[in-house]
Amino acid sequence: MRKGGFSKALYSSLNLAFHVGDDPTVVSQNQRLFSSETKIKNLRYCQQVHSDVVCHADSVPFSAWIQENLNVNPMIGDALISNRQGETLGIFTADCVPIFILDTATPAIGIAHAGWRGTIARIAAKTITAMNTTFGSDAKNCRIHLGASIQKCCYTVSTELVNQFTDNFGSDVKLGDRLCLHTANIKQLCDIGIQPESIFTSPYCTSCNTDLFYSYRAEGGQTGRMLSFIQLIQ
Ligand SMILES: [Zn+2]
Repeated sequence: MRKGGFSKALYSSLNLAFHVGDDPTVVSQNQRLFSSETKIKNLRYCQQVHSDVVCHADSVPFSAWIQENLNVNPMIGDALISNRQGETLGIFTADCVPIFILDTATPAIGIAHAGWRGTIARIAAKTITAMNTTFGSDAKNCRIHLGASIQKCCYTVSTELVNQFTDNFGSDVKLGDRLCLHTANIKQLCDIGIQPESIFTSPYCTSCNTDLFYSYRAEGGQTGRMLSFIQLIQ
């Protein structure tokens, strides 16, 4: 959600990302507001580049959260994993799919950022594979939530990209010249053993609801970012 913050105009109002051209002082104000409401003081996140790189949270420094001077260079990647008690992992989106992963047995958590590049690169599946390799997580114990993103009502792409998606994930991922990123991610998650009944999806399209969400596409590329986060509390 983008509501309730201090940012103006294109960034109105709860923009939590420094890198999008918003006033850094106001972004810090927004981050302080977020932290006071959620009680989350430390947050680990990556410098997202639409890759398939999964970072272990222990190797990611506390990021430039609430600091206007960006002295800390976040690690480059598009997913984070942790089994550390109290750890909070975050990603920023405005149309891409935020993917939340909870392994209830180990326990462990993961979060991933999947636009079309990350989806084709199977970052959701790779995040769970990394959780398996690092923590011993079993896909059968993982619950998944696919958050608000641009949906098949609005996500028009080139014929070439539609074909890449259908080649990778089957014909269910397309609706004419539009793509369903949720369906493509569900397919790759089921391929590695996630139970279909353990996958939950947001019905919201960011592009259809710019009063509630930032949408990179609907807003011509200049807008804020929402923060999605997951925290491990036993
Ligand atoms: Zn839509």
